[in-house]
Amino acid sequence: MWKCPNGCNIEEVIASLPKTEDEHDEMSVMVDAQTGKATNRYFDGITGVVPEHAELAEADENPMCPECQSDCDWVDGTSEITNSEDFIDSRNIISRIAQLDREQNALQKALDEAQAASNRIPGAVELSEALQEAEYELEDWKELWGDELKSLKQLAEDAEPLAGDWKYGATLIRDSYFEDYAREFARDIGVIQDDTSWPANCIDWEKAVEQLKCDYGEVDFNGETYWVRG
Ligand SMILES: [Zn+2]
Repeated sequence: MWKCPNGCNIEEVIASLPKTEDEHDEMSVMVDAQTGKATNRYFDGITGVVPEHAELAEADENPMCPECQSDCDWVDGTSEITNSEDFIDSRNIISRIAQLDREQNALQKALDEAQAASNRIPGAVELSEALQEAEYELEDWKELWGDELKSLKQLAEDAEPLAGDWKYGATLIRDSYFEDYAREFARDIGVIQDDTSWPANCIDWEKAVEQLKCDYGEVDFNGETYWVRG
């Protein structure tokens, strides 16, 4: 995600398009800070960003913080997300997908460039070696992270329509953890003090869990069931 070096709490950054000779000189596009994806708005508020501009905006290496005008830095800050976690925050899924997309796109771009260079001068040994190197790097990356990216995208696609607030933080709860979660939830909202003494220790938790689940949607994440609050 894009972070302001001064710690401003920002949702978007301003990406400048490369200068051209026409009147659209210094045009800027608003970019989602969390995902690094272009929004549909130019800095001056006009909507309908053309795909070519979106692509250029996403390639800006130091977009600007809208609050303090400092150059922002891309911070990885994401680690692998697997279906062994009891809780998964949707914002981590969003950031992780953005990060993996970014890595893959960079390697793909390097490969495309190596391919183009090699096409221009067929038979140049250095260029064909560079091309092979770029191919290996992308293949290696896909072997390591390709499955994770694919399954996270599937998870996001399935869970987002079920979640009340996907973008700003929905929690996915693993089915195996749901009863513990229900007990905690009951304590948090103050309907029981604790679950170990009378009468709270007489609660039919199986039934309580089934009823609580009515407010949640069910998604599959690589063979494990997760529940997300609607
Ligand atoms: Zn700032």
